[in-house]
Order: sequence, then structure tokens, then C-alpha cells
Amino acid sequence: MPRMTMHHMKPIQMVDLVGQYHKIKSEVDQAVLRVMESAAFINGPEVKEFEKELGAYLGAKHAIGCANGTDALQIAMMALDLKPGDEVITPSFTFVATVEVVALLGLKPVFAEVLPGTFNIDPADVRRKITPRTKAIVPVHLFGQSADMAEIMAIAREHDLFVIEDNCQAVGSDYTFPDGTVRKAGTIGHIGTTSFFPSKNLGCYGDGGAIFTNDDAVAKRLRQVCNHGSEVRYYHDVVGVNSRLDSMQAAVLRIKLRRLDAYAAARNTAATVYDKAFEGIANLQVPARSPRSTHVFHQYTLKVGGGQRDALRAHLEKAGVPAMVYYPVPLHLQKAYEGYGIRRGDLPVTEQLMDEVLSLPMSTELDPEQLTHITAAVRSFFA
Ligand SMILES: *Cc1c(COP(=O)(O)O)cnc(C)c1O
Repeated sequence: MPRMTMHHMKPIQMVDLVGQYHKIKSEVDQAVLRVMESAAFINGPEVKEFEKELGAYLGAKHAIGCANGTDALQIAMMALDLKPGDEVITPSFTFVATVEVVALLGLKPVFAEVLPGTFNIDPADVRRKITPRTKAIVPVHLFGQSADMAEIMAIAREHDLFVIEDNCQAVGSDYTFPDGTVRKAGTIGHIGTTSFFPSKNLGCYGDGGAIFTNDDAVAKRLRQVCNHGSEVRYYHDVVGVNSRLDSMQAAVLRIKLRRLDAYAAARNTAATVYDKAFEGIANLQVPARSPRSTHVFHQYTLKVGGGQRDALRAHLEKAGVPAMVYYPVPLHLQKAYEGYGIRRGDLPVTEQLMDEVLSLPMSTELDPEQLTHITAAVRSFFA
């Protein structure tokens, strides 16, 4: 790399949250101060307004704030009355939270394979994993595009199963059904969940999450579970949890929701630069695009063949380019989840991906100079 470039360039981070904040700072600061002046910290007007605005954006009848994306999944499963021993089919190639809540509730995670192109759950393998005890499917819309929801909903209808979409990574992406109907990811199954963890596409400045549904009865139950199992204060009809989105986070999220589509466009711009720069490099595959889903690029994840992934990562680090492996160990091979009757070799696609995936820096703030530096660093490895 030429020294001059290194000298002037903004340091490259996986995600640049400070840079993003500076562009909306006065609006955010005022909103947060307004909450402090009102002291409406819990379930204040900001939360109610944000829930309305998020529901309207997604086209979901109900959007319910909660404390984080992990809680959102747990509350969804509690609201559906899943019972110990019920089987829940999920991918093994996901963040641990998806499976953690299944295990916590005494349900049995059943791991399904993913498709090698999109990294999303393989509907054919979901079909193979169904037993008389299966009660739910939890597709994860990994890295920013929706799983094949038409197929998953068809399987669910055939076998009378619930579908909970883990939409922590693909909020804002559009899924198109074969008949042309377009729906937002997270609003297609019985319940959808998301996370507002700071680095997520719609991130707040702390923890936060939300749950979506179009079903009035399910929405009522979700709100009850979030609120200690209570509809009337101090009367508890079901066992619940305490999980709330706080008002300051809601105030920040209202500001960022208005920019969510522009943020997705900025991520797509960076992704297109990467795609073009890596065209024709043997042993390097750019992210496959689902024919049915738009991509919001929570991550831009390469597949590096020839056993070169870790060497590429080390090469990039030397050039000042961070790169991360999401995720290094599939859940079915994690110590905490080895008791579910599945072993190394049972999910060959997932296991191979864990050795090949490498995510490059991706955020709303990558500038052309940084992108040039990153792509040059990748290309020089293969030169
Ligand atoms: C981030 C994430 C979660 C958990 O969200 P938190 O807000 O951190 O609890 C769950 N599932 C997936 C796929 C995620 O990416």
C-alpha cells in the first residue's frame, strides 16, 4: 500500500458507529435530552410512537418492543405455549441466541442444514427433520437476506407448525413470493423477532429488541409475557418475564428508522464495490444473492476456498483491514449443545462453511478511499 494513502485514510473498522452518530448527532442528542426532561423512562410515548412507526414500516399489524433480540425469541416461544420436549427446527449456522432460548425453555433444538449459497436454512432439510414432536421452525435471515419463506410457510402449513422468523440481521429486506406478493422479512411467519444491538442494521445505543405479528391474539399474549405475565397490574395469569425497550433507545430508534432504507442503500453500494473488485478471483466467492430477497448486507461474507481463509485474514490484518469469522463453530458442535444427538459430519455444508466464511468491514460509513484500500488488500493476497 502506498504510505500516503495509509496516512490520510480514516482507520477501517468492521462497523463505524461513531461516524454514523456524528451525522445525526444533534437530532439524537435532542431526542435523548427530551426523554430525560420528561422522565418517561419506561414505556413512555417514545416507545409507543416507535412501535407504531416500526409496525407501519414493516407492514406488521403489531410491533412490540422488548429488551433485546434474545428475549424477543424467548418471548415468542413462550407466547406460543411450546412445551418441554417439543422440537424446534433451526439452522446450526447462526448466532447462539436462536438455539439458547430453545434449550432454556426445555425444548429440543433440531439442527437443519443451510444452503451453501445464501447461508440460509435449507427447506429440503427442514422437511427431512420433521417428526411427530416438531412444533416450530425458526428460520434465521442470516447476514441480511430472507430465507426461502414461501417454501418454509408451505412446510409449516402441511405439518401444522409455527414459524418464528429470527430477523435480527435482515430488518428492512423485502421477500417476494412466487405470485409476486412482496413482504418485509420478519412479517411472514406467525411471529418475527429482531434485535437493536448497536451493530445491527437498525441499532440503538444499548440493548433493545422487538417482536412482530399480524395476529391480534398472539400480540396480546406477547405483551402479557413481556410484562410479567400480566394484563391487569398485580394479576398474573401466565408466567412471564420483564423485558422492555427503554424510552431513550426508542427515541434513538425513531430517528434511525427514518434512515433505514438509506442505510441499506449505503451498505449495498459498498457491497457492489466489493463484488466488482473480486470478480474472477479463483478461490474467492462473493455473497450469493437470493432470487427472492433483497439484501441489506448486515454482513458482506466471502467464501474463501483452498484452505486460504485464515491466511487471507492475517494478510488483511497486516494491511489494517479487520475481517471477522461469523461464525467459527457451528452450534451443533458447541460444548453446550452437544447433547442433542448430532455429531461432526452430520451437517457437512454448515461444517464446510465454518472453514470458509470471512466477513469484510461493512457499515453505512465506508468511504471510497477505504473501499479501495480494502479491495486492493484482498486482491494483493491472490496476486
Ligand atoms: C444479534 C442476534 C440475536 C440476539 O440479539 P441480542 O439483541 O444481542 O440479544 C439473535 N439472533 C441473531 C441471528 C442475531 O444476529
